[in-house]
Amino acid sequence: MIESFPWWNEKQKKLAEDARIFSDQNLSKGDEVAWTKDFPSTLLKEVAERGWFGASIPLEFGGTDLGVTGCCIIAEELSRICAALTAAYSVTMFGGVEQLIKFGNEEQKGKWLPKVATGMLGGICITEPGVGSDAADIETTAELEGDYYIFNGKKRFITNAGIADIYCVYARTSDHREDKAKYQHLSAFIVEKDTPGFSLERINELGGWVGLPNGYLDFEDARVPASSRLGAEGDGWKVLVDGLNFERNLFAAGMLGPMREAIRYAVGHSQRRIQFRKPTIDSEINQFKIADLFARVQTARLLVYHSAHLMDMKADAVMAATNAKLYASEAYEKQLIDAMQVMGGDGWTRFYPVEAFMRDAKVNKLGAGTSEVMRMVLFRQGLRTMAEELKLPHRHVHPTLGIPISTTSLTPYTEISEKSVLKMLAEDYKVNPGLHMTRNDIKELLVGITDEKLDNILTTLEAQGLLKLHRNRKGKITLAKASYKGLRKAKPLDYYKWFPEWAKRQLNI
Ligand SMILES: Cc1cc2nc3c(=O)[nH]c(=O)nc-3n(C[C@H](O)[C@H](O)[C@H](O)COP(=O)(O)OP(=O)(O)OC[C@H]3O[C@@H](n4cnc5c(N)ncnc54)[C@H](O)[C@@H]3O)c2cc1C
Repeated sequence: MIESFPWWNEKQKKLAEDARIFSDQNLSKGDEVAWTKDFPSTLLKEVAERGWFGASIPLEFGGTDLGVTGCCIIAEELSRICAALTAAYSVTMFGGVEQLIKFGNEEQKGKWLPKVATGMLGGICITEPGVGSDAADIETTAELEGDYYIFNGKKRFITNAGIADIYCVYARTSDHREDKAKYQHLSAFIVEKDTPGFSLERINELGGWVGLPNGYLDFEDARVPASSRLGAEGDGWKVLVDGLNFERNLFAAGMLGPMREAIRYAVGHSQRRIQFRKPTIDSEINQFKIADLFARVQTARLLVYHSAHLMDMKADAVMAATNAKLYASEAYEKQLIDAMQVMGGDGWTRFYPVEAFMRDAKVNKLGAGTSEVMRMVLFRQGLRTMAEELKLPHRHVHPTLGIPISTTSLTPYTEISEKSVLKMLAEDYKVNPGLHMTRNDIKELLVGITDEKLDNILTTLEAQGLLKLHRNRKGKITLAKASYKGLRKAKPLDYYKWFPEWAKRQLNI
């Protein structure tokens, strides 16, 4: 059932097989973490010894160059063992490695990447006590003094806090309004754990992700070498945003293992549990739930690996990665709830791992950007990337049927005048009675009209009470429709009339 996708290369297929065997052999160690709450450092060392920390690192820096796909394969399999192992691995990948590969200079790459490839942990520091979803509002400051930046501020919710050796930290390097407006007020840095003035402030007691240190970090006049800055000063937002697709996708990959384990436990349990003199898996209700468990895993895996492939091909993956994260996190929650339901009370005991996975469900919809933020991105990006496909078809009144219908060609108006604009809006009322026309709709029919001329005509008609206009926050006219008075002025009442044949018969029209 666990598909090696046809577009994976032989190395990636082999990696998937090796990682699956590793997880099979270590599932019990993950169960132990749920009880001991000990960070699985020995297991993580074994992961490093297999070279898996180097999956996305180029060969010349000690990696194995297996791409985003390789990282996702590893995260998927590790996540069957326990969240602490997966998150420690994945956060290292998107907390320094990705940023160093894309924005680091040769010296920086040579200094840190070979160490990560052999298991050195990383962390990513965006979130602060007062800064969550609105990441651009970062308050931690970094002021240049000679060869050092002096850091002041706090970061929170930092995964791998205290166990990471390097942290990818975003800090404010400018307070100028123009820089903020251009998103050039932040810079990205690699901060080493022993930096003077940089310390661990607190460890969170989380509702899940058992055994994984997550906490607050403090910078008090911390001296970070200027040579640790990634990219130019002011590039921080660019670095941050660039890494988000990888972060979201890898985060989603780390949800696939528990989703698979949920099926194993739901099926295995219900095959062995007898109620009403038959196994509970024979009940159709449970079968339907199990069917959904399969469907969700299959869909989530497709989204994750399709998006990973796009990134490996250096193609645009904003929609794909955001969708993978959103879908997987929401499907994960339903998956664990359904699996628990199939298992009955047993599912909610801590004697089966489904319960621990269930508690992790919530954080999947928060970390690496909340579900709301994913939807904001999808909404904005969707409108942008699908702008052409989303254009509403042109519509007109069918010449014989008299009904509103789409058309591939509209005849432009030959005359540009108040009269022709009013006529156009009245005709539009016949096809889209409840809607306004957009500025572009109008301009398409008035070939060659300038914005200034259009504004002139629209405001004159508005002043006469013949139009209703909608303006955006900057005061620009964006939508227009004829008012009741305008409709009457443009056409006689008969023009707007239309009745279906049956109504004509019934009403004797
Ligand atoms: C276990 C865990 C690990 C984490 N690890 C890291 C890490 O390693 N590094 C790091 O930098 N951060 C980390 N985070 C932080 C995580 O990225 C943030 O929690 C997340 O971005 C949301 O920020 P917030 O919790 O402050 O919620 P807030 O931003 O305060 O949002 C609260 C709620 O309001 C919603 N909301 C906010 N603004 C809007 C809006 N304009 N429209 C609609 N809804 C909105 C949010 O979606 C959310 O539901 C971690 C968080 C957790 C819980």
